[in-house]
Amino acid sequence: MAKKDMKFLFVTGGVVSSLGKGISAAMIGRLLKRRGLNIFSIKLDPYLNVDPGTMSPYQHGEVFVTRDGAETDLDLGHYERIINTSLTKESTITSGKVYSAVIEKERRGEYLGATIQIIPHITNEIKERLIAGFNAKGDTDVCIVEIGGTVGDIESLPFLEAIRQMRRELGYSNTFFVHNTLVPYLHTTGEIKTKPTQHSVKELTGLGIQPDALLLRGEKKVDKASRRKVAQFCNVPDEAVISVEDMSIIYEVALNLQKQHLDDLIVKHLQLDCEPVAKMDDWIGLIDKIKSIKEYVNIALVGKYVELHDAYISVYESLKYAGYEFNKRIKVSWIDSEKLENDETLFEEIKKADGIIVPGGFGLRGTEGKMMAIKYARENKVPYLGLCLGMQLALIEFARNVLGHKDANSTEFNENTSYPLIDYLPDQYKGINMGGTMRLGDYDCCLLEGSKAKELYQASEIKERHRHRYEFNNKYKEEFVKNGMVFSGTNPQTGLCELIELKDHPFFMACQFHPEFKSRPLNPHPLFKGFIEASIKNEQKL
Ligand code: GLN
Repeated sequence: MAKKDMKFLFVTGGVVSSLGKGISAAMIGRLLKRRGLNIFSIKLDPYLNVDPGTMSPYQHGEVFVTRDGAETDLDLGHYERIINTSLTKESTITSGKVYSAVIEKERRGEYLGATIQIIPHITNEIKERLIAGFNAKGDTDVCIVEIGGTVGDIESLPFLEAIRQMRRELGYSNTFFVHNTLVPYLHTTGEIKTKPTQHSVKELTGLGIQPDALLLRGEKKVDKASRRKVAQFCNVPDEAVISVEDMSIIYEVALNLQKQHLDDLIVKHLQLDCEPVAKMDDWIGLIDKIKSIKEYVNIALVGKYVELHDAYISVYESLKYAGYEFNKRIKVSWIDSEKLENDETLFEEIKKADGIIVPGGFGLRGTEGKMMAIKYARENKVPYLGLCLGMQLALIEFARNVLGHKDANSTEFNENTSYPLIDYLPDQYKGINMGGTMRLGDYDCCLLEGSKAKELYQASEIKERHRHRYEFNNKYKEEFVKNGMVFSGTNPQTGLCELIELKDHPFFMACQFHPEFKSRPLNPHPLFKGFIEASIKNEQKL
């Protein structure tokens, strides 16, 4: 059989950033997947960090972790959730990664004395990585590549040049360019303005890229006459100008694109052999369900980066998906853990919540506030879900207030603690493969017979994604067990603690891993489902 052609769909953005081009790209992916195609996604990020792992969540939102342990941009989370797929380390390419690879090769003498330049060395490296992404899973039919930033930025030029070359090399029918722009609506005159789009396309064509479709983002639907005008000025067919107005429910974006036949256009252009229509019945069902939900469940999310909700986007999404299962919307009270430490009125918010969640985090700041919330949940039988740091702090709180070890701590926060129950012990990782000092990506977890975890998962062995450095030291386990702590999930290779739960509590569960990365709109994660179900019961109790 002849080798399949590589097909790439490139997504760029113009006029302003934050257009939601990642969402649109993911929705295109969903439509194509529902036409029977296998989709891989790549995000190209123009910044010079090698990966977003070290970036402040305040600047860049959450770090999303793939199953093979890559620390990536949060947009990859949208791709995984919306397309319902799992990605790999090949799906994230930053300028930092590209430049450092090229410089390393230069130092090794791999370029045989050539002068190293942006073109061709950087652009070749980008192209090689795009092709590696296409081949990463072995079954990809279409690879969707989102170029971060805005056309016209200095930083993204090498990426744009690389994708321009890709069309030359792979051919017209194997490449499709989607450009997203902003179409502002002027309230004073009641007009839609297309000029910024025209300028942005001009900029893009100046770089040698002629878009095949334009997605016009705005608060209002872009009428047919305006779309025609854009088509004419930007040199694209009428049917390739798509209005992507704000939708009340995000999943409607896919249906809106489908209604305007964007997927048909792509399939035809890329000459894809697939189903004639994307079956979206389950999503239509989900949208109808969300529209009909009237009741809320109140969840207090206690964290240090709550001012930027994007820092907890996967957690928030996972809560919402679990809520839909029980016909509830989630009302999140975003509680700043540091403020909680000396603000009693803020503690009232905790008391009002039906359930309390402490997500992951790094560093000492705010940890005492988080433990105050955990103590409240434990003592007052309020459902609690702890994620990663949320598990470590639950164990520290228990050691201090139940077992009476007042000095109990993690060596992350106090290196000299006399009771280092959360610790970094290099030999703790004997038996498992580790890249750096962090445990990243999928690890096995065996669930204890008779535990709530086993009941929720309906499985004995699971795999979950990790991103942390410190671990519970099993040396202290026995005293915890005697006092009602259940170690319900364990890594079989190392014996490391993965999941804990409390006996005699309606729902007190915490895990060392990040379940939020595996939750999907139509398939919420079992731990989140259990947590929301318990929170609803708690609400009804009042
Ligand atoms: N700071 C903790 C650790 O490194 C927890 C990390 C997290 O919550 N993701 O182990």
